[in-house]
Amino acid sequence: MSAAPTTHTYPLTAPITSAPGVGLRRAEAFQRLGIRCIAHLIDHLPFRHELEQAEGAIADLTPGHVGAARGEITACRVVRKKRGGRFEAVLIDHTGRLDLVWFNQPFLASRIMPGMRVRVQGKAERRGPMLQMANPHWEALPDVGAEPGARAERLRPVYPATEDLPSHVIDKAVQGVLHGALAQLEDHLPEGFRRERELPSLAAAYRMMHAPEHEDEVKAARRRLVYDELLMLQLGVQMRRAQLRAMMKAPALETNPKIDAHIRKRLPFALTPAQDHVVQQIASDLAKTSPANRLIQGDVGSGKTVVALYALLLAVAHGAQGVLLAPTELLAEQHFHTISSMLKASRVRLALLTGSRDASTRAAEAERIASGEIDIAIGTHALLTEHVRFHNLAVAIIDEQHRFGVHQRAALRAKMDDETTAPHTLVMTATPIPRTLALTVFGDLDVSTIDGLPPGRQPVATRWVRPPQTEEVWDFVRTRIDQGEQAYVVLPAIGEDDDDAELFDEGAPRASLRSVRSTLAQLSQGVLAGKRLAVMHGRLSRDEREATMQRFRAGEIDCLIATTVIEVGVDIPNASIMVIDHADRFGLAQLHQLRGRIGRGERKGVCILIAEPSTEDGAARLNAIVRTTDGFALAEEDLKLRGPGELIGSKQSGQLPLRLTQLPRDQDLLMQARRDAARWIEQSPTLSRPEEKVLHTRLWKRYGSTLGLVDVA
Ligand code: ADP
Ligand code: MG
Repeated sequence: MSAAPTTHTYPLTAPITSAPGVGLRRAEAFQRLGIRCIAHLIDHLPFRHELEQAEGAIADLTPGHVGAARGEITACRVVRKKRGGRFEAVLIDHTGRLDLVWFNQPFLASRIMPGMRVRVQGKAERRGPMLQMANPHWEALPDVGAEPGARAERLRPVYPATEDLPSHVIDKAVQGVLHGALAQLEDHLPEGFRRERELPSLAAAYRMMHAPEHEDEVKAARRRLVYDELLMLQLGVQMRRAQLRAMMKAPALETNPKIDAHIRKRLPFALTPAQDHVVQQIASDLAKTSPANRLIQGDVGSGKTVVALYALLLAVAHGAQGVLLAPTELLAEQHFHTISSMLKASRVRLALLTGSRDASTRAAEAERIASGEIDIAIGTHALLTEHVRFHNLAVAIIDEQHRFGVHQRAALRAKMDDETTAPHTLVMTATPIPRTLALTVFGDLDVSTIDGLPPGRQPVATRWVRPPQTEEVWDFVRTRIDQGEQAYVVLPAIGEDDDDAELFDEGAPRASLRSVRSTLAQLSQGVLAGKRLAVMHGRLSRDEREATMQRFRAGEIDCLIATTVIEVGVDIPNASIMVIDHADRFGLAQLHQLRGRIGRGERKGVCILIAEPSTEDGAARLNAIVRTTDGFALAEEDLKLRGPGELIGSKQSGQLPLRLTQLPRDQDLLMQARRDAARWIEQSPTLSRPEEKVLHTRLWKRYGSTLGLVDVA
């Protein structure tokens, strides 16, 4: 039943109380769902639809088929059984009798009474001479007189609802205002544009969502609304990028064969073709006077660091500064160490700036950065929040950036003296962001991919064992250590007195959780007695941490027992064995990152996961990580298992205003929206043509402040 078209029009801005059946009390319940006016109501979309059968006479119900009927309840009773029991009622209309039975719902006795008129829907079955419907959907009808007419078949929308605002009440309010409200809804997409893409009008899409004639209409409506969502996002993101390009200047760092050769001389190895390709893309970006914004994605171990270094050295070659930001202190320290040793023979001046250096050192380093005495500053992302100013920053690298980068990049711009200059920015990530998501989240970035690994790498072999078999695991580790290899053992917790952030808390009793400390105790007195063991975790001081990493790198430690502080970036090629205990407690991306610490040298890496997963999801993750070493395939898998929100961090997903879009399912629409947005902006960079007025208003309302769009119209 589509609501009978009313002649009454509902202004979209009219308060929700103007909808039929919505009094002051109901209005409060609506407000709790964020629905304050008619427009909000229309925009409250059903998440699915249920088929409501056409009502017929009881005599016309077909046994074995779902049907609907209405009539009067003439008798009821509760039949009690030891467990469960049932509630029975008899429904009569002018053609016959239908027996109704509900199992395990004794409370119905207080809701359904003789004399009431009800409508039921369910599958009718023959029971001897009688016709019976078990567990039917039911609905009480108002008193005769106010009783609604017999219902035709209908796809009934099911709305996100609350206890005091059930879906059918929302349904009724929507149906009451739908036609009157949609008549005033303006479309922000021109008709010709829509027709080319076979998209329904906005009003038609809302009508088909709330009152579809059939399933195909729901699909068509969804297609339009998802497209809209994606087009708006792409328009916003791409306009912002165009505006930045137009407003912001960056130092042009042109390269030539001499500079190129000079830089490559510093690198300890020849670049792979994949690295070379990306370096060329970067060099051509950096030669421009508008700031580069590029995402470099490359799987764990693909060799992103040297690519970053190339860009930093290009800045130094022009007498400008570069900064490299890492997500952890451990990684910043490692970068500092690696880059220092590569640049030992050069005049390039480096600084390390992390939170655990003492305040006076930090202040002194900051001073040298500000005066231009430092060429390359290396630090944690926290550097962005500190009061560090640069003398002439030209290149900023954000390493292992898994998350939405817009804010960090904005913070970087704020570090410049002059508001219209920005450094060239490269964001490096190994959490391989599936292409679809990259396009959405990083829609304002160019994307380069380092595909392929440096020469001589063999894929890591991964095995999953359950706890009773762990003796064999440690025997294996000992054998490998005897052959001169080094191992990591990773645990989710430090142990004992810790209540630290590294502890994964999923409510498991702590006693049963093996930790860094308990494992050290167990191994040093057991299978690995006599081997050189050490621990690594976030509670160590910077000196302890550096000393331990130094010894591990030098081969003076056989086995490093660590928390996930080693998760990203750590690069010790001789370490080829990894054991991850309680592996089910780690996410897929995290397991992949951890595993990426091995298989970095010539030796084949072996990764052993110890886990007794308690959920199916946990087992699915472990199977996936055993099956493939391809980070991109794993990321797609992750997207399927967890949805995009978690992959980019829940905080960030809140900023992604995608209500209906589902990735990767809507990938094609995303690509289309991206192309369409690019072409649109090319033809109308400010969206200020008269026919774009509605689009402009809606776009700015949605993204004007979040994206910082400048309104030139
Ligand atoms: P990522 O940061 O992408 O995970 P790294 O930059 O840490 O990877 O590089 C991984 C390892 O590969 C390092 O030990 C590095 O020295 C080595 N490596 C990188 N590029 C090459 C290359 N072109 N040839 C040989 N080894 C390389
Ligand atoms: Mg790295």
